[in-house]
Amino acid sequence: MHLSVRRASVFLALPFVVCGAACASGGPEPAPLRTTQPTKAAVTLAEQRPVVVPPARPARVVLAAVGDVLLHDRLQDQALGLPASPCKKATRPCAPPIADYASLWPTMAELFAKDDFAIANLEGAIDGDKPVSSYPLFNYDPGLAPALKQLGIGLVSTANNHALDARGSGAAATLDALDAAGVLHTGTRAAPKIKQKNQGSFAWGTVAAIPVRGSTEPPIRVGFVACTFASDSKEGATNGVPDPSHQVLNCDSDRVELRSVLEELRASSDLVVVLPHWGLEYEIAPSKTQKRLAQEFVDGGASLVLGSHPHVPQPAFPLRSAVDGHEALVVASLGNFVSHQVNRQDVPDTDGRERMLPAKASAKLHGPPTWIAPLVHVTLVRRDGVTTVEGFTYTPLRMHRTPRWHVAPLTDGDPPVAQEFFDKMYGADKRAPSVYFGTADVAPQKMP
Ligand SMILES: [Zn+2]
Repeated sequence: MHLSVRRASVFLALPFVVCGAACASGGPEPAPLRTTQPTKAAVTLAEQRPVVVPPARPARVVLAAVGDVLLHDRLQDQALGLPASPCKKATRPCAPPIADYASLWPTMAELFAKDDFAIANLEGAIDGDKPVSSYPLFNYDPGLAPALKQLGIGLVSTANNHALDARGSGAAATLDALDAAGVLHTGTRAAPKIKQKNQGSFAWGTVAAIPVRGSTEPPIRVGFVACTFASDSKEGATNGVPDPSHQVLNCDSDRVELRSVLEELRASSDLVVVLPHWGLEYEIAPSKTQKRLAQEFVDGGASLVLGSHPHVPQPAFPLRSAVDGHEALVVASLGNFVSHQVNRQDVPDTDGRERMLPAKASAKLHGPPTWIAPLVHVTLVRRDGVTTVEGFTYTPLRMHRTPRWHVAPLTDGDPPVAQEFFDKMYGADKRAPSVYFGTADVAPQKMP
């Protein structure tokens, strides 16, 4: 992979050498070429002059990653204006509500915009031909896809246990909705019988070319592939819905296919990211299976593994490839980005009306917190044609119930127990500054 990337870098540097500052600054057109032949002496002089190829400067982008977009009925009611919608009691035809999913994350777009590319896990289908539904089978209004785009999400994983909640046709419709909104996706494909365009193993993965801010360096190309958790049966891995057309990539039973996807992504990108949906729900420690699969992904060439499914955050840790020794970063679970997996005791409000139970009692009654999760910032740096993960920070997030359901960064007014949870799991030194200035000011961090 690296050989071809290096070649590409040199090739892309050449136009700069040929047209120099005029091209770089967008200045005047270069003078027309002379039509007379150059003298022998001129040619000799030119040949003697060493061609100086400026070394490519290190290029850096920051990925932002959050976990599950898991919209239970209350959140969907809010987004769709129900039950207050006049349509509910209308006796004559009433315009359907305009989905206001942005009300679930009113301040988050600003935060995502400070990084270069944002990723989330879309837990459920977007099929406008079927009714909107919630647990246990999630189907969202088509307004969700453009809302995610507006939020700043560049790519979603669609490989999870809710991928087929609106059946195979719903999985295909989801990809159409995302395509129409301009959101990249990975991990599922349209069934060959329904649509031919996503044929082949490579259809599971996708490559995002992420521009390097304030630089003329070529974009950093990041290859993504998502897969869903291992299960005793394929049906179990997709919420009891059969997958006869093999539309959802499985992390374990499709491991041979996944391996070839990783190879293809390595050949066509600067760095490979795996987005597995795995682990045990409400467990804050990664399972043996997660650890085994993480090692397989890294041995297969992944430099970054960003997991989801447990609904609670799980640790971040480095992992070395047993094949070529490269070091990767694994964030075992990003938890819930936005969900209604909460109750009155779980979601304290800063106005003090709903108080959290003491941490011990809360954990006993409700398990680890499903209402807090990290927004992870991962810095990728390309030096001399080789791209590596060089930094990791996070912004703690929480769900609020007032004035409306929404997710927002944790503040000093929030219960100390929430921040303590993050400090313990990811380290206080990895917390992004409360006023987060974005790419240019993210100092490279040591791996956790
Ligand atoms: Zn899940």
